[in-house]
Amino acid sequence: MTAIAPCRICSVEDSFAPLSPILDLGKTPLANRLVVATSPQPDPTFPLSVAFCPKCSLVQITETVPPETLFSDYLYFSSYSTTMLAHAEEGAQRIVHRRSLGPEHLVVELASNDGYMLQFFKRAGVRVLGVEPAKNIARVAQERGIETRAEFFSLDYARTLRDERVAADVVIGNNVLAHVADVHGFVAGIQVLIEERDGEAVLEFPYVREMIDRLEYDTIYHEHLCYFSLHSVQELFRQHGLTITEVQRLAIHGGSLRITARMTKSGRAPAPSVTELLEEERAAGVCEIDYYRRFADAVRQTREAFLSLLGQLRSEGKRIVGYGAAAKACTLLHFCEVGVDTIECIADRNPHKQGLRTPGTRIPVVSVEALVEMKPDVVVVFPWNIKDEILSQLDGLRRSGTRMLIPLPEPILV
Ligand SMILES: [Zn+2]
Repeated sequence: MTAIAPCRICSVEDSFAPLSPILDLGKTPLANRLVVATSPQPDPTFPLSVAFCPKCSLVQITETVPPETLFSDYLYFSSYSTTMLAHAEEGAQRIVHRRSLGPEHLVVELASNDGYMLQFFKRAGVRVLGVEPAKNIARVAQERGIETRAEFFSLDYARTLRDERVAADVVIGNNVLAHVADVHGFVAGIQVLIEERDGEAVLEFPYVREMIDRLEYDTIYHEHLCYFSLHSVQELFRQHGLTITEVQRLAIHGGSLRITARMTKSGRAPAPSVTELLEEERAAGVCEIDYYRRFADAVRQTREAFLSLLGQLRSEGKRIVGYGAAAKACTLLHFCEVGVDTIECIADRNPHKQGLRTPGTRIPVVSVEALVEMKPDVVVVFPWNIKDEILSQLDGLRRSGTRMLIPLPEPILV
């Protein structure tokens, strides 16, 4: 564990301001590290606190758990969520169409997971290459016929690829930038890949304003190091000769930004979408600490509301279970100190998770079929970002009287 004092973006500059603390979520286990029932207790925990850089306005957690510890055997398979798959297909088609991509072009995806997105480029006849650090997941992609390297992407690895004459027309990175400890090496590596063909980088990451405005504090966990605004990400890219030329707000993952970046030397000016969003951020207070302090107060209030609702349900003797054994559940359960005495089990569609226990709280993970058979009174829906998908999956249960508890931003029963 490395405690960082300076900002992840500004630390390379000569002068940097100290970080301002925002919210301390306490000591928390690694959110995606599900455990077998017999593994020794207690599960290791690490401090989880969020801070703000007054200079570049980057929101970030203050500790870095080594990536080898976090990502070597990751259980998240993108293809298990139909919402994510549909989003990936739309994104891929948009890029193929906009850049008229064909067999002479190459799309490189960083943290390409099981090939969930590259498959759509491949289907359109475009050459693809995935770079995926989790070996077990890279293997799944390879078995599906998506060329994938089981590597951490870095400046060094980008240079290795360049030496192999890999030059990208498009570099894609979905939900990876926020997870990277060495953001400078990562962005410099992107620049290396796109330079030769004057390519572009298209990256998606959760938007800090959505987290703040919608109290999505459960998106804070050790894998998620940075919480970007357009201001902070623009500063990072500027330092590596890249200009953000376009930006879009997306609904995916509870609210994300999709940015397109080009080589600054190619001379393309940012579209109005960029200047407009920068202005909007300034007006919203994104560059001021007070914006984040109000968030922290509201988070403490929503925790009290969640606990009071659970307490009431328990006093009525209700049988409560959960849905979605993802990272969000871990942060929420630990911050609210809710355990297996309240939530009997958590269902998850991913068969790799079933039979395991949630880290720290040791709540059993079961199949969705098992949850349905239990006929619980209440299901706490942790992945609120795909709650519509889950509500329709559990429609039969709902019609027979089971209520769904959506924990954030304000806990409600539906
Ligand atoms: Zn900074």
